[in-house]
Amino acid sequence: MHAVTLIKGDGIGPSIMDEAVKVIDASGVEIQWEVAYAGLTAYEKFGTPLPDETMASIDKTRLAFKGPLTTIVGGSGFRSINVALRQKYDLYANVRPAKNWPGVVTRYNDVDIVIVRENTEGLYAGLEHYLTPKKDIAESLAVVTRAGSERIVEYAFQYARDNNRKKVTVCHKANILKYTQGLFLDVAREIAPKYPDIQFDEKIIDAACMHMVMDPTQFDVIVCTNMFGDILSDLTAGLVGGLGLIPGANIGKDAALFEAVHGSAPDITGKNLANPTAVIMAGVMMLRHIGEHDAADKIQTAVEKVVNEGKFVTPDLNPQSKCGTVEMGNAIVEAMK
Ligand code: NAD
Repeated sequence: MHAVTLIKGDGIGPSIMDEAVKVIDASGVEIQWEVAYAGLTAYEKFGTPLPDETMASIDKTRLAFKGPLTTIVGGSGFRSINVALRQKYDLYANVRPAKNWPGVVTRYNDVDIVIVRENTEGLYAGLEHYLTPKKDIAESLAVVTRAGSERIVEYAFQYARDNNRKKVTVCHKANILKYTQGLFLDVAREIAPKYPDIQFDEKIIDAACMHMVMDPTQFDVIVCTNMFGDILSDLTAGLVGGLGLIPGANIGKDAALFEAVHGSAPDITGKNLANPTAVIMAGVMMLRHIGEHDAADKIQTAVEKVVNEGKFVTPDLNPQSKCGTVEMGNAIVEAMK
């Protein structure tokens, strides 16, 4: 029996997380779900976006399965709870795989990219403030440390080796941000020769975006600082069929949190339109992380079958489909029988 902190999240979160829990439970793996709250839902319910009870649960389980959390855009409201959780539990590696799915027609057929994003530093370090009382000058500080860069670059190369990948590309902006991005690039260049079996490449981030939309097959594993990884992973999601398909793992030394790459999707909340695949695949990543490979394989095979058939999928995958979040979850459970 594995104990997992379950945070259903905001917006489409509860509906997709209910399907994910249903699918994971139906796989036969024994999970004891500890329901906890975070984000806007927690703020409205308890007056705080990150209640002590939620942290107490993660302190105990060291494993969380989380739906998307709403963060109000701009200066009003609380700081991102996603960023807070990643920093508090030192979940330094954000792994976001994007691969073509059989049955999902996209511009390219052979995309298979894993973004390994530094998850605790960079421009998301949270050091942002106004410099004047009139609030007409704002400043953000990007923090890049040698230790933080070393551990994420090592993680990327080790991930490549463990998963039979061929190449690691560091995406950076060291031509302009000579200290922060320069340090990250220097570290990548220092570590790369330790992995002679893995090809090393480097690309300036803006050129990398152009190369990625023109020929994504040249990318395999990508390692980058926090914000570049955030942006690039939505780009890779777009290459393989959209945000409804892409899971993410947030990995630390002694804790891990699994979630979709996408957000709380206010535009489709409450309409039974949200694709549960991304969070279900985040559940698959979680099961692999805790060694439950049979259950993970079973779920993955069922999801692939349902997506490939294209009948019981949400409209983001098949605009003609009348199927919603719940029906897709039911079809995946059926496909596991
Ligand atoms: P979003 O990812 O929520 O939505 C972007 C677009 O993708 C929308 O059109 C949405 O309908 C679509 N989409 C997203 N998930 C989908 C799914 N499962 N099925 C079908 N379509 C899906 O991004 P946004 O609108 O920029 O952000 C909304 C909120 O989510 C913001 O408050 C943001 O801060 C938050 N957010 C949270 C996380 C997280 O919790 N990890 C990640 C990204 C954004």
